Amino acid sequence: MRLRLSLLSLGVLLALLLVGGAFQYVVLGPYLQRDAAAQLGTRYSTVMANELLVRRPVRSCATTGAGAVRPVLAGVVTPQYADCLVRALGAGAGQASVVVLAPDGGLVTAEPPSDYPTLPVTEYVTTAQKGPQRNHWLAASAGGQESLVILRVLRQNGRAVGMVQLGVSTALYEGTRRTLLTVLGLATGLLMLVAAVITPLLVGRALRPLHRVTEASTALAAGDLARRVEEPPRADELGTLARAFNRMAAAMQSALNLRSQSESRMRRFVADASHELRTPLTTIQGQLDLLRRGAADDPGARRHSLESMGRETQRMSAMVEDLLTLTRLDSAATGERETVSQAVDVNALVAETVEEQSVRAPEQRVDLELSGGGAPLVVAGDRDQLRRLVLNLANNALKYAPGGTHTWRSGRAGETVTLSLSDAGPGIPEADLPRIFDRFYRGVAEVSARATGSGLGLAIVRSIAEGHGGAATVANNPAGGATFTITLPAAD
Ligand code: ADP
Repeated sequence: MRLRLSLLSLGVLLALLLVGGAFQYVVLGPYLQRDAAAQLGTRYSTVMANELLVRRPVRSCATTGAGAVRPVLAGVVTPQYADCLVRALGAGAGQASVVVLAPDGGLVTAEPPSDYPTLPVTEYVTTAQKGPQRNHWLAASAGGQESLVILRVLRQNGRAVGMVQLGVSTALYEGTRRTLLTVLGLATGLLMLVAAVITPLLVGRALRPLHRVTEASTALAAGDLARRVEEPPRADELGTLARAFNRMAAAMQSALNLRSQSESRMRRFVADASHELRTPLTTIQGQLDLLRRGAADDPGARRHSLESMGRETQRMSAMVEDLLTLTRLDSAATGERETVSQAVDVNALVAETVEEQSVRAPEQRVDLELSGGGAPLVVAGDRDQLRRLVLNLANNALKYAPGGTHTWRSGRAGETVTLSLSDAGPGIPEADLPRIFDRFYRGVAEVSARATGSGLGLAIVRSIAEGHGGAATVANNPAGGATFTITLPAAD
């Protein structure tokens, strides 16, 4: 990229220099021609004003020894006078030519006498009649030498009596043009040389932040997730790139952190689940060994073994059922599984659950203090999941706080529906409170109640509440027992 950018910059520079040089070279040509013509014009005016006047005999010509020269004879400038003019105008003119012509374009005299530049006769005739029609002409001599010429008309009493053609070889100003070309060429070469040294350094310096981003990307790809690039304070493309790179690296790092956290949570969950499943499996294995070693022949022992295996199988299938429920709730939370949203009357769910429970535990006293005397209290969600939530709380109360009154309360405050179940059981030790909703967590109540839970019931309650945009909390009652509270967003 550095090489490409350097070459591109050098190419652009070269093109600009060439175009600029060509422009100067082209524009200079006409300018030099006009300049040469102006010089010739000035020489003519100076000589004619100071030295010679066609209107009267010329004194400077008279001093040549031939006596006073007659300027005009029969309406045409005389050759003597023309010689005089040529001498005066041609003096010290170098590659200049002076030609005196009659009004009809005929030659009167010329310096140099041969190989002087000539124009088509029509140009001379037109000039004699109407005056010079152009500032200057380009004329070739018989020998092929090209000159720039100007024409001036000699008049007597307003009538054209002849013409003076002053010329200078184009080689004079072409030389200037060639010199300019050489200077331009050398300057261009020199500039390109300097640019060829400096440009890669400047480009390299400008691209340095890009190199840093490349290095950081390589480090990031190799696992260095904490790698960041220095953000230049400029708001240009490279500054934006550096900031975007850092944002991307930070997002990647946090995503990977989240993933590794969730992976380690998942590993723990799987390890806990395997551990929990091993206990009933070990018991069943033991009972099978007993049966194999002869207990099968003893009807009492056989019944005991079969009952024990039945209990463990039941416990195991309940646990597998709970695990499956939790996995489904997890996939719904991460968006892998679609969630159901229907209008669910929480009060009706509680009433149904309590009625079912009264069949299983008819002696248990349950109070209902439901909002609006049990009038519909609606939330949006999955009816089966919410039924499971209510059932888990009711079963726990029955399991850990049998006997005393259980009280269901419900209500709505603003956009939140609250549902709670208070029991008069042993309550929950302070140490258990923060972990009571964790997966596989079983508290002391389980031991004293001789219950055989999986420790997944409250984890399911929390997952369902959170999956519905709500929360599950627990607190001990001042008068004893615990109160589990569920909050859910109300449906309109
Ligand atoms: P499980 O009942 O299968 O053990 P849960 O997740 O339902 O699992 O309950 C976790 C723990 O919370 C229980 O082991 C028990 O110690 C405690 N617990 C649950 N409900 C109550 C309650 N109503 N009163 C006292 N302790 C309770």
